[in-house]
Amino acid sequence: MAAAPAAPPPSSKGSLREDLTCAICCDLFQEPVMLSCMHHFCKACISRYWRGTLGPVTCPQCRKEFRSKQFQTNYLVAAMVDKVRSSSSDTYIRNLEKQLSAALQSHNSRKEDLLCTIRKDRDKMDIIKRVGADLQGCVKSEFRALHQILEEEENHTLDQLRREEAEELEKVQRHLEAAELAVRDLEDNIKLLQQSNITLTEFPQLRTCVEVNVAPDFDVSAFSGKYLAPLQYITWRRMFKALKPGPAALTFDAETAHPSIHVSRDKTVAVECDAMTPQPSNSKRFVQCVNILASQAFQSGRHYWEVEVGSSPKWDLGVASETVDRRARIKLSPENGYWTLRLRNGSEYWAGTQPWTRLQLGSPPQRIGVYLDCDERKVAFYNADDMSPLCLFSKGPRGKVFPFFSPCISENGQKPHPMKLLHGALSG
Ligand SMILES: [Zn+2]
Ligand SMILES: [Zn+2]
Repeated sequence: MAAAPAAPPPSSKGSLREDLTCAICCDLFQEPVMLSCMHHFCKACISRYWRGTLGPVTCPQCRKEFRSKQFQTNYLVAAMVDKVRSSSSDTYIRNLEKQLSAALQSHNSRKEDLLCTIRKDRDKMDIIKRVGADLQGCVKSEFRALHQILEEEENHTLDQLRREEAEELEKVQRHLEAAELAVRDLEDNIKLLQQSNITLTEFPQLRTCVEVNVAPDFDVSAFSGKYLAPLQYITWRRMFKALKPGPAALTFDAETAHPSIHVSRDKTVAVECDAMTPQPSNSKRFVQCVNILASQAFQSGRHYWEVEVGSSPKWDLGVASETVDRRARIKLSPENGYWTLRLRNGSEYWAGTQPWTRLQLGSPPQRIGVYLDCDERKVAFYNADDMSPLCLFSKGPRGKVFPFFSPCISENGQKPHPMKLLHGALSG
């Protein structure tokens, strides 16, 4: 340590403490004073050191002589000593420890939170990947089914075309062969006739020639018309019947209709009527709300149907559990057995949750598609004009449900709008 420089780096706290230590009492300066040689001592220490000395005095550190006992109070050093002293006090250290421990705890807890978020993010990514893969499988299998329908339709059409072509060819082929045979017979006869001598007494024995009909007609335009017709459209219409689920052929169940609902004779149109028509009471009928169900119930598999709502400003539709209370006025919510989409005031679309959930739609749909997956417990609504999704209930019904409709009560002076079941509109 002998060669170490006298002035250690000022940033080091240990050396600062050394610099502020009195060489006489070896403790931090008390009331530090500076001699002309720039050395510092406690005021009390240097006074004691010089006590009794007459004449010149010396610096205890550098031995420099001074003619009189003179020193200056150094407030800057005093302030630094105060700082170092307070920073080494017990309270200060306890406070510092407390702050350090709090900061450590907060850092640890933030790190724990972030690690938790990272775990959640990873889990979410796993879920997204898994759901995505499942959905890819579903989409592929749906398209495989469509491809298969198309392929079967193509094979069927090509088979029919080949069969008809072969039949036509065979008809002509038979005619051709008969004509050739007849030509041979005629040639034989011609030969006989040419060889016959006029001196013969008898007419030669000729073959009887087969009568050949006129060639059967082949109508090229009728033949090609069958296959050049709007083949894609014809196939698409045929495909419709094979779609799973295709649009279900629903009818309204008039026995469930509220007395102010009129049902058309073919049971595909329901409309609110001015006067209540007296109806035979039965346990299926809605007596409080202007509701009606379809006759068809579903409790397994996937189903899809379409309802024309036109420009009606107000309606509810969806599915209802078989067990809903039809004698009471009940809020339409999943908790009460209703999964519905509703329109109010001509442009406000709502999902029938509790409370209602407002939906933002691009354009007002004229036809609504309802998709029910009983096994996956899902109810989804679509704008059937372009099949854009409107809303989805992922916790759908358990058990038996019926398609549900409410044309609602029309506002005063407004013409009631019918609801129309659109089954068969495309599948015909
Ligand atoms: Zn001292
Ligand atoms: Zn000195």
